Amino acid sequence: MDGDSTLEPRQRDRYSRQLLIEGIDPADQRTLLSSCVLVVGVGGLGSSIIQYLAAAGVGTIGIVDDGRVKRSNLQRQVVHTVDDIGDPKVDSAARFVDALNPAIDIETHETRIEPSSAEALLEGHDVVVDALDNFVGRFVVNDAAVLAGIPFVHGAVYGFEGQTTVFRPDGPCYRCLLPEPPGEEGIPSDEPMGVFPTAPGTIGCLQATEVLKLLLGIGEPLEGHLLRYDGTDATFLRTPLKRDPDCPLCGPNGPEIESLETVAYDDRCRIERSASTE
Ligand SMILES: [Zn+2]
Repeated sequence: MDGDSTLEPRQRDRYSRQLLIEGIDPADQRTLLSSCVLVVGVGGLGSSIIQYLAAAGVGTIGIVDDGRVKRSNLQRQVVHTVDDIGDPKVDSAARFVDALNPAIDIETHETRIEPSSAEALLEGHDVVVDALDNFVGRFVVNDAAVLAGIPFVHGAVYGFEGQTTVFRPDGPCYRCLLPEPPGEEGIPSDEPMGVFPTAPGTIGCLQATEVLKLLLGIGEPLEGHLLRYDGTDATFLRTPLKRDPDCPLCGPNGPEIESLETVAYDDRCRIERSASTE
């Protein structure tokens, strides 16, 4: 982020409505234009997040997804169209962003986030956004974000419902909220679950709002609170989140971990020290 407060006439015009908001001046817009955000997942949440970050003028957006566009995605993943079916989601999303705001530099990573690659993917980004639909990837993003010292905007949806919060590197983190995936039978499978079309749009929009607030340093980020949404009765519930002192990642009583390369995950996504570090 640099302090250059000048904007081109076309930029002043493009972003004029947000520049009318108190607390967002041309220098802040330059901050957005020089910011770098990583969005992990280009499904329903990712579609909502990416389109607003691009529209707002976040200068560099990295996107990570190893999936290809399917017809059944189109009911909620609004950056993809029928012409994109069969294409990598990251390419489809990049075309959407290029059409919406060609000034945005979009970095595509057609891969699944893994412990071995997560830290390299996150490097150099100001904020990382969880737009995933699985627990394993979410734990990996959380762990890499804490270790890299990068704020992490979490989001998840199921049916009519969803939730979001902001995690800071000094906690609480996602492992304080959820030490391991729910259920007795291990990690839920990749079986598709029902999602109401607008649920990821609603949660993704809230996540994009938190990202922009973090980048601009305005308002009060959602950190320390979990915001739950239920579309069936149109309610939001905001509950406090506390750091777990025994959290294996961010807790003061947890082990000292410097890199994901020195840890391994057990079959419940819990952190265990790898034998190679002993
Ligand atoms: Zn934690």
